Amino acid sequence: MKKCPECNNIMRELNTKTPDGISYSYFKCGNCGEEILNMSQLHKVAEKYRAIKRFNARLSKWGLSLGLRIPKELVKRYRLKSDKNVIIIPEKEAIRIIP
Ligand SMILES: [Zn+2]
Repeated sequence: MKKCPECNNIMRELNTKTPDGISYSYFKCGNCGEEILNMSQLHKVAEKYRAIKRFNARLSKWGLSLGLRIPKELVKRYRLKSDKNVIIIPEKEAIRIIP
C-alpha cells in the first residue's frame, strides 16, 4: 500500500486522461489531495504517447516560403479545405496549426 509523502495517509490508485485523451493511472491521497505518478505509471503513459500515430510530410519551396503538404487522413479528420485560412502558432519545439 502506498503512503502519502506529505501527510502519511493511504493513497489510492486512480485513472484519468490527459487533455489528448490518453488514459493513465496515478496515486492520490484521500486526505491532502497530493497526486503522484510512480516510474511504472510514467513509463506506461510515455509509451502510449510514443504509439500515437505520426505523419511524415515534406516541405517544398513555394516562392520565398515553404509549403507543407498535409496528408489526406488529416485533411479529412480536421475538415481542411483548399484556400481556407488556418492559424499557425509557433511553439517552443513545434508549430501548431489551428483549422
Ligand atoms: Zn496526503
